[in-house]
Amino acid sequence: MTWRADSETVVAQADARTAELADRLDGLLERIDAACRAAGREPGSVRLLPVTKFFPAADVAILYGLGRREFGESREQEATAKVAELGDRPDIRWHMIGRLQRNKAKVVARWAHTVHSVDSERLATALDRGALAALEAGERTEPLRVLLQVSLDEDPKRGGVIEDDLGRLADHVAAAEGLQLGGLMAIPPLDADPHSAFARLATLHTRLLARHPAAIELSAGMSGDLESAIEHGSTVVRVGTALMGTRPITSG
Ligand SMILES: *Cc1c(COP(=O)(O)O)cnc(C)c1O
Repeated sequence: MTWRADSETVVAQADARTAELADRLDGLLERIDAACRAAGREPGSVRLLPVTKFFPAADVAILYGLGRREFGESREQEATAKVAELGDRPDIRWHMIGRLQRNKAKVVARWAHTVHSVDSERLATALDRGALAALEAGERTEPLRVLLQVSLDEDPKRGGVIEDDLGRLADHVAAAEGLQLGGLMAIPPLDADPHSAFARLATLHTRLLARHPAAIELSAGMSGDLESAIEHGSTVVRVGTALMGTRPITSG
């Protein structure tokens, strides 16, 4: 094959992927609007966070071209590489949505706009230190927004803070200078009824708001359950598969 034919193939593949993502994005935004209307909520009151884990930076660039500015990633190394690759698009807001080890907090605090998966005071403290260092170094201009990941099955091994510890963790984050308490996040237990899980999450969110009125974000809903999450007050849905296609391997 000549060089020209090769590059034409590459361009044709990129065009096909652009068309595919544009099509799925339209459908997904319609699906979110329909869920809002069904729940008696204002269409547009729920944001879409495309989850791009396991997909290349080129896909993020395509979605950026389609007007998206927020992206969710769940693995620190992969995300940090993508952030570097797309560094010429400084208006991207990167969200860390996956489980995070404390020793990765410092690097994540450099690039993340929001971390959705904070479930312990120790992790919060590590992120606070990282955010303060990044602010000091001019690597970020605003505190790191933090969502508290709530366990809906009270099994701390699966991640998330249990209900009894939620209030104390919220106060801890609210008092941290480098952090801003943004709200809550949850993933329903695998075999649970999403309606009851999201209803419980909504109750916890109402309770949090009574003490921390600015913590308005409720990160809930994925490809399979976003309608139920929107019915129960989600303000941002984290959608991977329904937009990007099937991931090569599943992730945590
Ligand atoms: C991967 C992931 C998602 C997206 O899940 P889909 O079912 O592919 O939409 C949402 N939230 C978290 C925390 C994830 O890790």
